[in-house]
Amino acid sequence: MTTSNDRPLHDAIVVGGGPAGLQAALTLGRTHRDVVVLDSGNYRNDPTDAMHNVLGFDGTPPAEFRATAHRTLAAYDTVELRRTTAHAITPIDPDDPRAGFVVRTDGGEVTGRRLLLATGMRDELPATPGLAELFGTVAAHCPYCHGHEFAGTTVGILGAGPHAPRVAGLMARIAARLVVLADGADVDPHVRSALDAQGVEVRGAKVERVERSALPSGRDGARAVLADGETLDLGGLMVSPALHAAAPFAAELGLELRDSGAVAVDAFGRTSMPGVFAAGDGAHTADFPMPVSSVTAAMAAGQMAAASVDSSLLEA
Ligand SMILES: Cc1cc2nc3c(=O)[nH]c(=O)nc-3n(C[C@H](O)[C@H](O)[C@H](O)COP(=O)(O)OP(=O)(O)OC[C@H]3O[C@@H](n4cnc5c(N)ncnc54)[C@H](O)[C@@H]3O)c2cc1C
Repeated sequence: MTTSNDRPLHDAIVVGGGPAGLQAALTLGRTHRDVVVLDSGNYRNDPTDAMHNVLGFDGTPPAEFRATAHRTLAAYDTVELRRTTAHAITPIDPDDPRAGFVVRTDGGEVTGRRLLLATGMRDELPATPGLAELFGTVAAHCPYCHGHEFAGTTVGILGAGPHAPRVAGLMARIAARLVVLADGADVDPHVRSALDAQGVEVRGAKVERVERSALPSGRDGARAVLADGETLDLGGLMVSPALHAAAPFAAELGLELRDSGAVAVDAFGRTSMPGVFAAGDGAHTADFPMPVSSVTAAMAAGQMAAASVDSSLLEA
């Protein structure tokens, strides 16, 4: 099929080549849908050298996982992966989004009957000097992804906000000792008593910087230097980044967003606009307090959203 400008009108355009987008492409390719995946090459788990909690790929570098996925997709003739950045997305017919979408990219325009957004989220770290260099290895945000690696050590939790007791609870069976670094902020009495009840130590002083250190075991650790002169040698540091949508398209298209900043989807990956679907970290169903952020969850959502794209094309 072509548009009025003789551009090929693909069945679907998937924006994003992370786990959500790549799995969506596989699902669409298996029903011989003509799908183009646009991938700007910026993945949320770029800072880490190994991903965990992914069956069959536990401990695998993310780049190796993607290379495996690319080899899988290469077997499907109707799937095309383009390494390019999308800059703008507009409906072909503003009155009927089911007519399709035009995506403007570095390499020209791509048109498709359906749009699947899998552009993910990006992390904004606390401003602590040195933290960005440690994030993804000895500083981590998710105990399921990077918690077991800190087993048997003293683990720090940066920030004494409402999240701290929950992170402490998740890490309690893994760490030998837990220390919350309040980083110069007041600690809410409820948070303090919840931490006390768990036997978690609290340090109030500002964290001047964090740096990589060598643990007696030979593994890397994180050293926290506090403004009151204390230095803590940690096996790992748990942090809570703020999350932002990695791409502006959901907002620019006027899709319903949730407070998390992610696009609102139903269980089938459908957004508030017919013809537009979303999956992965950047998509948020009403059932969860936050977007579910993991490789496996992104793949599951990508598969479901792709099946919804297929259904929507069948209905048309
Ligand atoms: C440090 C760190 C470590 C992690 N470790 C783990 C782990 O061990 N196990 C685990 O399960 N999860 C882990 N995660 C979470 C995991 O990375 C995400 O849940 C997962 O990557 C989400 O997949 P996604 O496809 O939604 O997004 P992403 O993987 O972030 O992919 C987004 C895609 O969209 C593309 N994109 C964005 N904007 C554009 C544009 N304008 N044009 C074209 N393409 C665009 C990007 O280039 C990329 O291809 C980790 C996260 C972080 C931050």
